[in-house]
Amino acid sequence: MPVAGVETLEAYGVATAGCTRCRLAQGRTQVVFGAGNPHADLMFVGEAPGFHEDKQGVPFVGQAGKLLEGLLAGVDLRREDVYIANVLKCRPPGNRDPQQDEIESCEPHLFRQIELIEPKVIATLGNFATKLLSGRPLGITRVHGQEQALTIAGRSVLLYPLYHPAAALYTPAMLKVLEADFARLPELMGHGPQPIAVEPEPEPEPLVEAPAEQLGLF
Ligand code: URA
Repeated sequence: MPVAGVETLEAYGVATAGCTRCRLAQGRTQVVFGAGNPHADLMFVGEAPGFHEDKQGVPFVGQAGKLLEGLLAGVDLRREDVYIANVLKCRPPGNRDPQQDEIESCEPHLFRQIELIEPKVIATLGNFATKLLSGRPLGITRVHGQEQALTIAGRSVLLYPLYHPAAALYTPAMLKVLEADFARLPELMGHGPQPIAVEPEPEPEPLVEAPAEQLGLF
């Protein structure tokens, strides 16, 4: 369960640093809680820390992280503008896929992060985050780029599934799709081009005096 009574994201991160909820605690260098703006409108959820993330304690600092930073720059955002977390907070040995019981053990941490950050849009990177947060088994190839209005951790959010940057690194066709999906993020956050305000037409002059005003003359 989430640690009760911890009200800020920073305090929750501190409380999570000693987590022993699953076997991954044994092999990790440190818990990789998440990083970025604790009040971000846009939150990214990846899969799990890799080698570099485990060493540095920060998500997405390896090759996939560099690509993520480039994609963010393409929509005028920096890491500091968004919040980045993972489904698992500890590195699986050899970067293997997360196991179901590990996902279930770590899930309360992610849900508490969402409650505390209150993002408008959650972009899920890859299959594990997408399936967990959508609650549906559909794979990323089917659902990428399709926003879904959902209630997550008791809040209305727009879930936006994206290909995982690590998968796009070596597949140019997938990278093109990821870039195109990324380009819609400002619009989904309500930062897209605003409709041009149209001045209302002036009321036409009445052809005859209104009866009430005529009465007022006498
Ligand atoms: N780095 C992370 O922090 N998460 C991933 O899912 C992949 C790389």
